[in-house]
Order: sequence, then structure tokens, then C-alpha cells
Amino acid sequence: MIKVNKEGQVWVFAEQHLGKIEDTSLELMGRARELANKLGVQVGAVLLGSSVKNAADMLVHYGADTVYMGEHPLLEHYQTSSYSKILYDVIQKYEPQIMLFGATPVGRDLAPHVASAVKAGLTADCTDLQIGRHEIKKTGEVYDNLLFQIRPAFGGNIIATIINYDRWPQMATVREGVMPMPEPDGRRKGGIVEIKVSLSHADLVVEILDEHRRDKTVNLKASRIIVAGGAGVGSRENFRLIWDLANCLGAVPGASRAAVDLGFIDRDHQVGQTGTTVRPSLYIAAGISGAVQHQAGMSDSKKIIAINNDPDAPIFNVAHYKIVGDLNEVIPAMIKAIKEKV
Ligand code: FAD
Repeated sequence: MIKVNKEGQVWVFAEQHLGKIEDTSLELMGRARELANKLGVQVGAVLLGSSVKNAADMLVHYGADTVYMGEHPLLEHYQTSSYSKILYDVIQKYEPQIMLFGATPVGRDLAPHVASAVKAGLTADCTDLQIGRHEIKKTGEVYDNLLFQIRPAFGGNIIATIINYDRWPQMATVREGVMPMPEPDGRRKGGIVEIKVSLSHADLVVEILDEHRRDKTVNLKASRIIVAGGAGVGSRENFRLIWDLANCLGAVPGASRAAVDLGFIDRDHQVGQTGTTVRPSLYIAAGISGAVQHQAGMSDSKKIIAINNDPDAPIFNVAHYKIVGDLNEVIPAMIKAIKEKV
């Protein structure tokens, strides 16, 4: 366990693939900057890879004051043992007070290894991070400037705020898409601290022979308009209605988890707590009841249109425009009206 260092930086593990920083890490840079400003400390990013200098400069543009960069040919591919060992060493040396990871497959593997090595706590899958004050009622002890690690709990029925006042660094993984992407500033200047990395094949327990990466088939986050269908659409064949309306609007089709589980559409289209978090200009939800887990991924959309034949469906609580009716009649009417306009 490292000692409490109130001057410690706010750190982000900057995940990269072939030198390109993952979006989640860049999103985290924005929130790290805000947290650090509140604490009056600096932002650090830890970047490991085989040839990542350009990515280091990018992290400075996205808000890093210092990039701790470790370059080595054997760091080209993520491996738990090498990456967690290096992170353990740099945390011991520089004592950040907060360490953040994206809740990506890599972050979800790396963060618990590092947390257990440095004997700190870890909150997984946060949807918000704030700085706050906590008083333990029984003893009257007050802790200022703690990281509030906020995430849905008990199946999404409550939002829990988790703190970690006696184990440092305070560590969390954060879900993709929940923090807005900051604007890069090409004029920003920052420092690069090179981490000495000495690794040999003997240090790696896994030998990577070949890599196959499956990229998502759809980019929901980048879409300005999403037309999402739920279990109420009824079948994979009927989901054609959702695709047709989406095509008419230049939108991307989204889905509830129930629609995905029922095989109406591929999982890459799922919106919500265990899918993608989106905030498009327009979100059309058809045949979706609006469970909290679905709302967690779309309620920040600028305008929401809900189509549901149940006037009491919870989706109407977050919708700006409410259409009570059968989607099998409403969607064709919408498509007809749009086609007549253009
Ligand atoms: P339903 O709840 O079955 O709703 C169908 C709706 O369609 C109803 O409101 C009905 O009135 C309406 N309808 C039926 N026929 C028509 C018609 N002809 N015209 C108009 N309306 C019609 N869910 C997600 O979406 N995303 C997640 O990421 C997610 N993560 C989860 C994580 C956890 C840990 C858990 C426990 C659950 C999660 N869920 C998630 C599931 C969530 O709780 C709901 O079960 C799911 O969102 C329901 O999907 P739905 O609204 O499509 O289906």
C-alpha cells in the first residue's frame, strides 16, 4: 500500500493499439483534468507500447501534464504480467492519488491486477467520478477531496457512490462513452518521463503468435441519430422496420438488450448499461419499455422520441416526444412522411 500523497497526480492508463489511443482513454483524460483542477494537482498519463511517442504528444494535447512513457518491442501487445509489473513500479515511484482505467477488456484485466499488487481498492465500471467530502458519522472523522466513484449497483436499481479513504491510490475503471470526449489543444505543452523498461521473453508467460482483432461493426457513439428497437418489435424479420427508418434518416440502428438476446440484431448495436452509452442529437426508441439499464445508456440524448403501445411505459418518462401506438403502424407512417418531404 502506498502512502497517502495529497499532492499526487491524477493518472490515466492510456490504452493504445498500434500507437492509436483508445477513445475511452481520451474521454478519461477530460475527466482527469477536471478532477485534477479541483484537487489543484497535475494530470499524468501512463503509456506503454513499442513505439508510442506520437501517442504521447496526443495525450498532452488531450490534457496530460506529464506522460510516463514506457517503450519496448515486447510491450507491443498487451500482456497482464508485463504491463501490471511496470504500472506497479511507476505507482510506487510517483505515488499518484488517483489511477483511472477504461473499462475495456484490457482495463478490466489490468486494473484488478495492479490494485491487488499495490493493495488498493478498485471500483469497476464507474459511470461518473466526482471529488467530494465524506464524514464517518460514528467517529466524526472527515475526509476531504476523496474520489467519489459512482456506478449503478443492484442490477442498476440504485446508483452507488463508493469511496476509498484509507487505501491509495484511489482506483476505478470507467465505462466507455460515459464521459464526453474533450477537445484536443495542439498548443498544449507537457513533459514526457521515460520509464526504463527491461524485459525479456522469459518475463512473459504468454507468447503471442498471431493477432486477430474484431472491430465493432457499428459506431453507435459517433452517430447523430439512432433508431433503436426493443422486444416490442417482435422478430428479427420485423426489425427491418427499424433498419428502414434508420436508413431514411441516415441513422444507425440501436437495440435494447432484450432485442439482442432475442436475436433480432447483433450485440454491437446494444445500448445501455452493458452496451454502449450514447448521446446523439436524436434517439428514437420503438418497442422499448425503458428499463433503468437501457436508460443508463441513452437518457443524455438531446432529443428522444419514444414509440410504445403502453402509455405507462417508463421510456415516456425520459422522452421529449411521446407516441402512444403500435410501432407497426407508426414507423411506416413516419417513413412515408419523411419520404414525401425529401
Ligand atoms: P421489454 O421490457 O419487454 O419491453 C418491450 C416494450 O415494447 C414494452 O414496453 C411494450 O409495451 C412495447 N411494445 C410491445 N409491442 C409493441 C408494439 N407493437 N408497438 C409499440 N410498442 C410495443 N437492457 C438494455 O436495453 N441495455 C442494457 O445494456 C442492459 N443491461 C442490463 C444489465 C443488467 C445487469 C440487467 C439486470 C439488465 C440489463 N438490461 C439491459 C435489461 C433490462 O433490464 C430490460 O430487460 C431490457 O432493457 C428490456 O428490453 P425491452 O424494453 O426491449 O423489452
